[in-house]
Amino acid sequence: MGCMHQQQSFAQSFYGNVIKTDAPTFDLVKDALWDFQFQLGKATGKDFKIDSKDSTHIPGIQIIKLDAAKNPSYDKRLDPNNDDAVLIQSDGEHSLKIIAYTRQGLINGIYTYLDTLGFRWYHPGEKWAIIPKLKDIRLKCDNVYKPDFILRSFFGTWGTPRNKVVDKNFTVDKEWNIWGIRNRLGGAYTLVGHAWGDVLAQWHDYLKGRPEEMALVNGKRVSVDAPNAKFCLSNDDFQKVFIFHMTRQLKKMMKDNPSQPRYIVSVEPSDGGGDCECEACKKLGNPSTRAFFMANLVAKEFQKISPKAFVNLYAYNTHAAAPDLELERNVIVQVIPYKYQNTYASSEQMLEAWKKKSDNLFIYDYYGLPILNLDMPLHNVLAPWRYAERIKYWHKQNIKGITLESSYSIGCTGIGLYLFARLSWNTNADEWQILKEYYHQCYGSAYNAVWDAQLVLADDSLEKSKTLTNVIHKLQTETEKLKLDADQQSRLTDFKAYTHYLKLMYQMQRNEDTTTVDNLMRYVYSIYLRKEVHAPPINVWPSEFGHSAAFIAKYWSPFNETAPQMRYATIVPLTDEEINKLFEDDCRVKR
Ligand SMILES: [Zn+2]
Repeated sequence: MGCMHQQQSFAQSFYGNVIKTDAPTFDLVKDALWDFQFQLGKATGKDFKIDSKDSTHIPGIQIIKLDAAKNPSYDKRLDPNNDDAVLIQSDGEHSLKIIAYTRQGLINGIYTYLDTLGFRWYHPGEKWAIIPKLKDIRLKCDNVYKPDFILRSFFGTWGTPRNKVVDKNFTVDKEWNIWGIRNRLGGAYTLVGHAWGDVLAQWHDYLKGRPEEMALVNGKRVSVDAPNAKFCLSNDDFQKVFIFHMTRQLKKMMKDNPSQPRYIVSVEPSDGGGDCECEACKKLGNPSTRAFFMANLVAKEFQKISPKAFVNLYAYNTHAAAPDLELERNVIVQVIPYKYQNTYASSEQMLEAWKKKSDNLFIYDYYGLPILNLDMPLHNVLAPWRYAERIKYWHKQNIKGITLESSYSIGCTGIGLYLFARLSWNTNADEWQILKEYYHQCYGSAYNAVWDAQLVLADDSLEKSKTLTNVIHKLQTETEKLKLDADQQSRLTDFKAYTHYLKLMYQMQRNEDTTTVDNLMRYVYSIYLRKEVHAPPINVWPSEFGHSAAFIAKYWSPFNETAPQMRYATIVPLTDEEINKLFEDDCRVKR
């Protein structure tokens, strides 16, 4: 049941214009509280106060953090073990309470409330925020809210773009982060990847003297200094070292952060092949079974230490197969079904096999990997509306959480990531309804024109350059006479900026030389603050995958952006007017 937004006017229609909490809770969630205050102020035109001295008396919006140790059963609907859960209660008149056991729960509550009032943050940046005009912010409400996936996270390859020449204050980084928070991404599960490299480094001298504990490959024990070297997992002494190493890490985590809801240590093998070929290891099972056998050994030891202790590893590469053993209950498996696995004929078969092994399955997926896709439109199963089906399918398969490796690109992954945020919170939401609202609110009467353009770009059966030229012409014809408000116009300009990016990208791909590469780099950084594309991978591509390494190293080295010859310092951000001019020039090109 959703909460009802009260519409009648009343003296207390703003809950007394005050947000109340206590001092420790204020410290815990102050960034979200300041944003809450800012959003309510913009929507109502009123000043909202934050009072962190008195959280008990009405009227007011009360932010209440519960202590699970003192008050484990405040409300039987609110599970203290669910980090995301929040209770929102309001009599619809004097007060509204946002009540949770955790920081994440309180933040989820603030943005769930704002979402119910009609606030939307479609993409990062205030340009893409929809702030309703409100004369009344009261709800009649008594609901617990919690997401369908306990982990809802994504990151773009190499992290958020941080170019200190083009974006001195790292606004792009900040805007993507706050976008995720406002869209309730998160979850108290930190799952890190490869962990055997740490074992190699920390036990280097020990292992150097014990070649029999290293993997036997092609009749020889691998060197401890070989990159990504693996171990002889059947060796009893090595098993002891491995358990000791992981246990020491767990104990340090528990000591450093005593009140975490759970502690998760990665036992993920190193990348690549090189699994041990000795007879004793073969007896343990296939490489996958052996990797999960090691995970189990550590997991059993962890059970003696704390019920909050877990191990995690991927199911991929040489350990993609579901193992021939039962998994301990505190082993978390991140399945990677759509790439880098040749074990199963289909991703569905892989998930079916794993579902029989574990109730602790998470998904790791690639959504528009920028170094391969270069932020060009996503096709087929990766088109946003098709990707929505995949998220719903995962929920039906009892997947607990999702991590996406993706791109910070409004133009390419933006809509898919917005759907991901909404659907991973509530898989019953209707993706078509969300899209309809998205296009209407972002583009007003240009709704159809932009939607059509993006549908056509997502069709990979068409020839790229020709399709783009047609899309640009059609977009121009269909939008030039429309009356749009300033925000809608500005969002349309950003979409036009993205189409011009595609044009330069296709040009470079057809004919890579210093002119086309330079044009592309110059343009990508001139629209950097618009966040339409994820600059660093595009920047690296011509040197890693093209043949312009020397040129890039000399003028456009993204990891050395302040060096004297670099051209980042010559970048001036393009204005809306200039983007529209470029777009009109693109329109003059013959079809
Ligand atoms: Zn072995």
